[in-house]
Amino acid sequence: MLTHNLGYPRIGSKRELKKASEQYWSGKTTQKNLLQVGKNIRQENWLLQKNEGIDLIPSNDFSFYDQVLDMSMLVGAIPKRFNDLVSKKVSSLDLYFAMARGYQKDDLDITAMEMTKWFDTNYHYIVPEFYKDQEFKVSSTKVIDEFYEAKQLGVITKPVLIGPVSYLLLGKEKESGFKRIELIHNILAVYIEVLEKLYDLGVTCIQFDEPFLALDIDEEVKLAYQLVYKKLKTRFPEVKFMIATYFEGVIQNLDLISNSLTFDILHIDLVRNLKQFDAVLRELPDTVQLSLGIVDGRNVWKNDFRKSLEVIFEAVRSRGEENILIAPSCSLLHSPCDLDLEPDSDSLVPEVKQWLSFAKQKLKEVTMLKQLTFSPEDESILIKLDNNTACIYSRQTSGLIHSALVNERVKNVTDQDANRNSNFAARKEKQKASLNLPLFPTTTIGSFPQTKTIRSWRSKFKKGEISFEEYTGYLREEIKQTIKIQEDLGLDVLVHGEFERNDMVEYFGEKLKGFAFTKYGWVQSYGSRCVKPPIIYGNVDRPAAMTVKWSSYAQSLTSKPVKGMLTGPVTILQWSFVRDDQPRAKTCLEIALAIRDEVKDLEHAGIRIIQIDEPAIREGLPLLKNEWQEYLEWAIKAFRISASAVQDQTQIHTHMCYSEFNDIIDHIANMDADVITIECSRSQMELLDAFADFKYPNDIGPGVYDIHAPRIPNKEEIVKLMYKAQQFIPEEQLWVNPDCGLKTRGWEETKKALIAMVQAAKQLRAQVPQTV
Ligand code: GLN
Ligand code: ZN
Repeated sequence: MLTHNLGYPRIGSKRELKKASEQYWSGKTTQKNLLQVGKNIRQENWLLQKNEGIDLIPSNDFSFYDQVLDMSMLVGAIPKRFNDLVSKKVSSLDLYFAMARGYQKDDLDITAMEMTKWFDTNYHYIVPEFYKDQEFKVSSTKVIDEFYEAKQLGVITKPVLIGPVSYLLLGKEKESGFKRIELIHNILAVYIEVLEKLYDLGVTCIQFDEPFLALDIDEEVKLAYQLVYKKLKTRFPEVKFMIATYFEGVIQNLDLISNSLTFDILHIDLVRNLKQFDAVLRELPDTVQLSLGIVDGRNVWKNDFRKSLEVIFEAVRSRGEENILIAPSCSLLHSPCDLDLEPDSDSLVPEVKQWLSFAKQKLKEVTMLKQLTFSPEDESILIKLDNNTACIYSRQTSGLIHSALVNERVKNVTDQDANRNSNFAARKEKQKASLNLPLFPTTTIGSFPQTKTIRSWRSKFKKGEISFEEYTGYLREEIKQTIKIQEDLGLDVLVHGEFERNDMVEYFGEKLKGFAFTKYGWVQSYGSRCVKPPIIYGNVDRPAAMTVKWSSYAQSLTSKPVKGMLTGPVTILQWSFVRDDQPRAKTCLEIALAIRDEVKDLEHAGIRIIQIDEPAIREGLPLLKNEWQEYLEWAIKAFRISASAVQDQTQIHTHMCYSEFNDIIDHIANMDADVITIECSRSQMELLDAFADFKYPNDIGPGVYDIHAPRIPNKEEIVKLMYKAQQFIPEEQLWVNPDCGLKTRGWEETKKALIAMVQAAKQLRAQVPQTV
């Protein structure tokens, strides 16, 4: 039985790669230095995995930006618009970064390739661009170099490549008249050439990541799978092919995998989908070895050895130990690096810390499981098993986790709790009377520029260099100015600016019970951007109001309505590490009840409009479509529970970003927010296509300009976008607002953009014949 790993975090345990890349981009360090930082991380990772006793260690899992972009470089899928750079002879690393981030220099203005989410993770990859009859050619030596580099260190690695079918499926057709899967013949030659080189260097096993084998695929894709793996295997009979699947189970493709694919090892994700286990044991031919993805690569909890051993023993009994491998469920890219770095603190107390395991600890778990399989009698190993059992037991029974009160409350939730008192039409009448807003009301999404000064106050306050009073004093001053600016701009519904928040989830997590925070628990989100998700370990509870002071203060400064600003339950859930000892739906409901209490408190304090942001509702959708319904049901219900405890007069807003809501628009309507503000300026209101068939019942503010770019919109283009919106949505339902929060923008551009926006709204109002 061998142990192996599918991929290790490449950002460095203290985010060394992030820092070096950003310095390089801003011209503060040399390419040589950046390359050296990358090399150090790779070496550290390989040696660490070797020391931890991993038998098959991956290479080519390192990346300076993204592993899919690495593949595009490898196969030469470089979009034509980058030709100017190629002919300018910029270095291949600069070309690579230009593809990821765009290139604006020396009269060139080349847009970056698109970025999108890696399956249902919070990692984002660079989307390959495909054209009809596209030719591929080997254009990078990275995978070869890394294999060689590790070999020099005495490690014969298992190079990781995204398999040809998944690579094509991850991309997009950039012209019509073909399907990208048809490019399979063209791309095959490149894989053969790369494998030849690796073979010459002594490669013995290659990991082909084929996550699409765990999803629903059509016949054409299945045929492509058969074709490529047959050809590759015939060509390289001596190299072991490991087909890695993850994030779902392979049951729906088991026939294809078992009967028509030629390969040596199948890796399955048993953390995400244990149901596939029996079927795979039964149907996978004996000639294929099975890799058990048994240690959770996506979450932070310690492995339950006793449970895992049951699975391993069953596999060993059924297929013989020589045919079994054990591994994390997926690449450890999605785990924080090293729990050992975490100091004990109030945000991560020792009791909670003993339940956790990050990437480095997960490797240890994999090797320990192997030892436990083979030497169940060995004294020193048994101690480890006992330790593990004790930790698991401690988590099951801890008073920190289990609150009878919260459980009771969850049990007593009724359907009525998810409903407002009256329907939208009745609410709208009352809100009209109490808020007295014009047609095309203007508002923003919540945050205003988070300047360096604000961030320095926060960091000083956290370090204890300024007192709480000083800190809040500064923030209040900032709020005061922001309210004044909004009044001067002529906005109709104001916000306090969210200056007190570092991050829209972390802020609430810090105030809720049941959340822990790490100091170094960073996970790559895209490129150099890393996130540090909170860890939800216990029943969620709200000991005290979280936002009321800020919102009431802001409201006290103006007679215009100020929106209270909250993050919704689904988004808090989605952007955290979530407990795995109860269904996500229940955790989400607990958060919803906490937010519900906050909503009530805000209303009580005289806040007449409350926005509950749910930017992550779309990304929580399961990978398999037949599971969408169940998710949408509990997710939408959680939102409604958070929003429904208020009077009819109180107006509930929600906000969403990252487009592509068209396929779930009816569910979004079902959230029954009085107003939704939604991102759609980047796609020129493509979103509105959904409204051609679907009559959105409540009020809606389609974002009229893209806040992700520094560009300032002008009045005319905003008016034009709103005209487009009016073709689908009656004017009395429309709001005018930017497409997301303004915290990443500067004040100057923000003011100019909002001036244009308010003017646009005025023009729209003037054009309405009879004001209602
Ligand atoms: N209210 C948040 C803000 O304005 C919303 C952020 C988001 O949608 N991601 O920043
Ligand atoms: Zn947004």
